[in-house]
Amino acid sequence: MAKKKRILSGMRVSGPLHLGHLVGALLNWAALQKEYECFYMIADWHGLMSEYEDPKRVPHFAREYAIDYIASGLDSERSVIFIQSDVLQHAELHLLLSTITPLGWLERCPTYKEQKEQIQDRDLNTYAFLGYPVLQAADILVYRADYVPVGDDQVPHIEIAREIARRFNHLYGTVFPEPQALLSKTPRLLGLDRRKMSKSYDNFIALADPPQTIRQKIAGMFTDPQRKRKSDPGRPQFCNVHTYYEIFAPDEAPEVAEKCRKALWGCTECKAHLAERLLEYLAPLISKRNELLANPELVTEVLKKGAQRAKEVAEATMSQVRSAIFGA
Ligand code: ATP
Ligand code: MG
Repeated sequence: MAKKKRILSGMRVSGPLHLGHLVGALLNWAALQKEYECFYMIADWHGLMSEYEDPKRVPHFAREYAIDYIASGLDSERSVIFIQSDVLQHAELHLLLSTITPLGWLERCPTYKEQKEQIQDRDLNTYAFLGYPVLQAADILVYRADYVPVGDDQVPHIEIAREIARRFNHLYGTVFPEPQALLSKTPRLLGLDRRKMSKSYDNFIALADPPQTIRQKIAGMFTDPQRKRKSDPGRPQFCNVHTYYEIFAPDEAPEVAEKCRKALWGCTECKAHLAERLLEYLAPLISKRNELLANPELVTEVLKKGAQRAKEVAEATMSQVRSAIFGA
């Protein structure tokens, strides 16, 4: 049998994981486990780049991420689930790769410019923040991953990782495959305020939110701005609530659209019903989460085993990297 291709992906620890992560990444990662050898990382060092003033919450979230990963279907028997900072080889490779990365590649990166504009409440004018894609390249290359499942927002970073791999191979001899992005087909989920749902914008429904919070958040969602009164016919095609029906309760979406267009029910009722359907959709995840919260040793064990396996693979790469650069 042909050797399975390898995947690396991860989430930056900078706030709670939310529905966007579930439908845009985690469910896809779970499905990929059938076909690939998967490494799923909890990127706490990447989180630190924006959380450096309040770093004590990073380890707390890192454990929460492990819970969310497992509750979403990642299986530690099949995949390596680990915390980035448990594998120091990422830091060593990051340093070595930084020596061959031209500043221009980083300064031109669109996500760098965008985040600097969008995130005003923290000072991101740091060396590490500019170098974010170099650490990400190290994360990927240290496992010699073939594919990186990502959303389209991450494509420029994968491109930088490919360029760095190419440059390294050219200078020191081939050690790294050029990793390819594996694009998620799910469109971006919008948040409660209709911007992209993001942990930095406070417009999210977290996977850890209690049911009552989910109900309240859905009740506050923006709907079609032109529908002011219940008797006004609505336009589901412009309503984010309707998109949620299409994703989380697709069987009912056509009927709901009809009731909206004909003004047979108001936005308040429509949202209250959505909240119940969403909670039904999330029920297996919530129950797995609660089981893991009640048995923290299970999570500790998964992360310990994951770190061990990740370190083995990362160290094997690093010994090749060291001899490629410095000679045997
Ligand atoms: P940050 O504000 O820190 O950038 P974020 O909420 O945008 O946080 P990321 O860590 O950037 O989350 O997202 C990791 C991956 O999760 C993305 O590459 C994308 O695949 C997926 N993802 C995040 N938000 C969404 C969303 N709203 N809809 C679909 N997928 C998403
Ligand atoms: Mg993002």
